[in-house]
Amino acid sequence: MDYPGNLIVVAAPSGAGKSSLVKALLELDSHVQPSVSHTTRAPRGQEKHGREYFFVSEPEFDQMVLGDAFVEWAHVHGRRYGTSKKMIEDRIAHGSDVILEIDWQGALQIKRIFTNAILVFILPPSWDELRSRLERRGEDSPEVIETRLANAAAELQQAKEFDFVIINELFERALFDLKAIVHSQRLKYVSQRRLRADTFKALGI
Ligand code: GDP
Ligand code: ADP
Ligand code: 5GP
Repeated sequence: MDYPGNLIVVAAPSGAGKSSLVKALLELDSHVQPSVSHTTRAPRGQEKHGREYFFVSEPEFDQMVLGDAFVEWAHVHGRRYGTSKKMIEDRIAHGSDVILEIDWQGALQIKRIFTNAILVFILPPSWDELRSRLERRGEDSPEVIETRLANAAAELQQAKEFDFVIINELFERALFDLKAIVHSQRLKYVSQRRLRADTFKALGI
């Protein structure tokens, strides 16, 4: 399937900084839109239904699975998370770039369906820093933090399946890298041909 918008999928172990990076990118670039996932986990402090996630019950999630509403879904840290098909197809069909912040299982499912999707893995600079970011964020209980750190070891092994890797040490540097990846997609021949049709025509190509 060839859509005018690009799909950019960002995955990372919890605490590596993907939400912060994606949020900063969205503030800088109005051509990028987020995909808002559905989840069965409870909202954290400041999270709002429809902004970070659509928070749904287990039966509601079941209904969506049965209704084939998800392009991908997965069990992550004991909860279920899914990406709505309609949400991303409507947007890329209209030429927006869509960024998905999902786990590695979902990322690989997306790549199988949307073969042009770009997969970006965010690495923390070290284990110590990953732990201290989870603690500093202060949104998860100590037990949840331990589960997330234990899961991170296996998740990191998936980085090799991704197209790009960003090491989120200095935040501004990592943001620059993410912007560069998004921008590079718009410079592809097919994108330029579509976006700059007049220039191509005037040049006779
Ligand atoms: P939330 O989940 O939406 O509440 O936000 P996050 O936990 O992802 O990040 C909180 C805020 O800190 C956001 O506004 C980020 O842009 C910002 N932030 C995160 N890390 C850094 C950093 O290393 N440097 C700077 N300058 N800002 C950061
Ligand atoms: P994720 O979405 O991957 O779980 P977050 O974006 O919530 O991670 O980041 C985890 C914590 O680390 C947050 O408190 C965030 O402010 C902080 N953080 C993110 N990137 C950096 C960075 N480069 N340096 C220091 N702290 C960071
Ligand atoms: P958190 O609860 O910290 O927001 O997210 C936990 C994990 O679930 C993260 O790895 C996040 O990327 C992943 N996740 C969020 N939404 C989705 C989704 O729609 N699909 C999949 N497969 N994973 C998701």
